[in-house]
Amino acid sequence: MKLVAGVDIGNSTTEVAIADFDNNLEFLTSSMVKTTGLKGTVDNVMGVLLALKEACQNINIPIVKLDAICINEATPVIGDVAMETITETIITESTMIGHNPDTPGGIGVGTGKTVFLDELEYIHGNEEVICVIPKSIDFESAAKRLNEAFKKGIEITGAVIQGDDGVIISNRLGRKIPIVDEVAYIDKVPMGMLAAVEVAAPGKTIKVLSNPYGLATVFKLSPEETKHVIPISRALIGNRSAVVIRTPEGDVKERVIPAGKLILMGTKENKIGIEEGSSAIMNSLSKVWPLKDVTGEAGTNVGGMIERVRQIMGELTEQEIEEIKIQDILAVDTFIPQKVQGGLAEEFALENAVALAAMVKTSKLPMETIAKKLQMETNVKVLIGGVEANMAVLGALTTPGTDKPLVILDIGGGSTDSAYIDKRGAVKSIHHAGAGEMVTMLIKSELGLEDYNLAEDIKKHPLAKVESLFNIRYEDGSVCFFQKPLDSSLFARNVIVKKDEMIPIPTKHTLEKIKIIRREAKSKVFVTNTIRALRDIAPNHDLRTIDFVVLVGGSALDFEIPEMISDELSHYGVVCGSGNIRGAEGPRNAVATGLVISYYKSLRGN
Ligand code: ADP
Ligand code: MG
Repeated sequence: MKLVAGVDIGNSTTEVAIADFDNNLEFLTSSMVKTTGLKGTVDNVMGVLLALKEACQNINIPIVKLDAICINEATPVIGDVAMETITETIITESTMIGHNPDTPGGIGVGTGKTVFLDELEYIHGNEEVICVIPKSIDFESAAKRLNEAFKKGIEITGAVIQGDDGVIISNRLGRKIPIVDEVAYIDKVPMGMLAAVEVAAPGKTIKVLSNPYGLATVFKLSPEETKHVIPISRALIGNRSAVVIRTPEGDVKERVIPAGKLILMGTKENKIGIEEGSSAIMNSLSKVWPLKDVTGEAGTNVGGMIERVRQIMGELTEQEIEEIKIQDILAVDTFIPQKVQGGLAEEFALENAVALAAMVKTSKLPMETIAKKLQMETNVKVLIGGVEANMAVLGALTTPGTDKPLVILDIGGGSTDSAYIDKRGAVKSIHHAGAGEMVTMLIKSELGLEDYNLAEDIKKHPLAKVESLFNIRYEDGSVCFFQKPLDSSLFARNVIVKKDEMIPIPTKHTLEKIKIIRREAKSKVFVTNTIRALRDIAPNHDLRTIDFVVLVGGSALDFEIPEMISDELSHYGVVCGSGNIRGAEGPRNAVATGLVISYYKSLRGN
């Protein structure tokens, strides 16, 4: 036997393929581990050894029995992602507050002047009021006094409560009014002002206060004033309850934070403000493409952000900061839940933000150092194989049903790498910033999650709602029943369904909302990058000249990304699908397989 291993060291994953060269080329096994250390550094050797060991174990041989190990001439591209908020919602003089406690009471919309519970007795006539109840009053006396006030004919249309007993108070009332509780800074609620309280039925969301025209109706706002309340209504979308108070002097502003300008250097130099949003940035980028480098205006947020990327890349690759050139960026519009400045109950508003993925081309990665170390550790001859993109094409062509000319899209963790091979076998390739990691970052920040791994799980698995301890309903509506009861802590939760595990998602977001965020994050990154990639490598930059696209890489394993890309490409008459390397590996192992094939061909002299 003459055994050869191909090793692909990626940003996220290290993959191995082993074949026997004895008679014909016969692939025997493969393996996959997480890449150790940054791609292109000697730290990778540990992961490579692990992957080799695993593959060799599969065929019961020690590593030293290998005849040769081929590693890739890793493309020196490293991706990184960062994010910057560009709006800030500020409430001065606590004009209007939005609030979303867990357990509101009652239902409906109430409007009226804010009045303390103690002062209800001085109210007469048919003036409508919203009653404000501090924590110092227990729920029983609060309910009793509200009921007495009802009897006296006082028009109480809603209540705002400091404690968390909205439901218990509501249960004791003779008349149902909307009640919002857990308003922490109740002493700051302005008295004698017009306020509106809205509570939706369980499972529903508010409709009046989350609509700018609803607010305008309730508060009789002019068109000019209505413009100012847009940030409030937007912050309330999706809430089950809210209270909004209007004071004459107060002001709510959505301030656009000048986040600084990106300076894109390519065929010419373009400056573009981050606050103009992703499409303006990407447009500006296409006008100077191909890029030589990117910087940010000194002393601004984006300036700091770009310098951080450069610095980290410099440290990791042991290069001077000046040598680090940013060769591509992908800007994506996103939003980040942030505490409202000056709010009364720790309200959150969804502030606009721009996320940037940057890709750095370092000078050639020190693959020789890795090769030497690997050879020392294994006592096997280590060869540095061909260019990564060419290897990926060779590997992808082992997918049944494919032929040249062909485009492969390697959708990995840090970058989207694409290559076009023409009829005669010439390969053209390009790399773009932004891939799987950016999607995970968007999901994490838009849902306000702390845990990166949870966001990664949300990306990879479908959602379900635990409807009872014996059944769950998947996001597509299908139901799954269980013989044994589920853990009671899962009851009524939104969960991620992994192979043999259900992970509850610790947010208040509805299942539908999480699904939308997940899908949009994927589409914003991958659909955009697919079009960019194909425009760059297609003959004459015309997508219609391309017939076949094969998707490879970790993100091609995603349960909806390949479908999204195919849908988009069907508009251009392009056939697109996930690769199936050697008819066996799915979209994985393309580069490792290509390395082995390339070495085999070179030995045979073709
Ligand atoms: P690289 O070549 O850069 O090492 P990979 O091809 O291994 O990258 O792809 C890594 C990316 O693939 C990560 O962002 C990871 O989240 C994503 N990924 C891996 N498995 C899946 C899956 N089953 N569903 C969706 N994404 C996945
Ligand atoms: Mg890869």
